[in-house]
Amino acid sequence: MKEQLKLFMRLQEIDTQIDRHEAVLAQLPQEMQEMARNLVSLRHEMTEIQEGLTGNEKELQKKEDELSIEQEKIKRSERRLLNIKNLKEHEALSREIKLGKKVTGEIEDNMLELITKIEQLRKNLDRKQAEYEECEKNLIEKKAMSEKMISKATKALKSLKIEQAQLEEGVNKEYFKRYTMVRKARGNAIAEMVNGSCDGCHISIPPQLGITVLRQLEFVFCPNCNRILYVKPENIPTPNGGK
Ligand SMILES: [Zn+2]
Repeated sequence: MKEQLKLFMRLQEIDTQIDRHEAVLAQLPQEMQEMARNLVSLRHEMTEIQEGLTGNEKELQKKEDELSIEQEKIKRSERRLLNIKNLKEHEALSREIKLGKKVTGEIEDNMLELITKIEQLRKNLDRKQAEYEECEKNLIEKKAMSEKMISKATKALKSLKIEQAQLEEGVNKEYFKRYTMVRKARGNAIAEMVNGSCDGCHISIPPQLGITVLRQLEFVFCPNCNRILYVKPENIPTPNGGK
């Protein structure tokens, strides 16, 4: 019985290690996929900002052209104004110049707004670009690290599975069924009895059952969680009352 318990304890160790390595193998590709998705969405955001930037720059160019046309018109009118003697014509042309200046003022206001917008978009784009480069760097590092971790885990799993198969061959088949069921439900199937309690579910073990656990002559299952109970050898009291 002690031998069987030892086999089951070793099996639990092995199974726990297998779970850990398999979790690594499942998790790493997921993490990398997540990072790759993040890169794609950053790229989309950058494209959108770039499109906005191009649109605004075109608009600014248009406004610059409009402004120089208006300014040219004003200059021409001002030159003409110098030669006009007729008062009515003079007044009319003056009004036209005033109106033209109002229009150029509006265009300049528009241009200022566009310039501010363009500056913001450029800053935004720079920030996204830096973020993108950082993420890309992280992904490359992660890939290199993952490859190492995956090959390490794969190698470890190979030898662990061999030992697992050997242990499963050696353990009592009836208890193994129970072990498998409890492990599936609770993550582990063997628990230490500490100060009269099951360390798996922290329920007090009835004293009579506790004594059976200490004797280690038969398998004892926790009445609450069904884990196989064991005691560390140093916690088994000796007949003279010491530990
Ligand atoms: Zn328990």
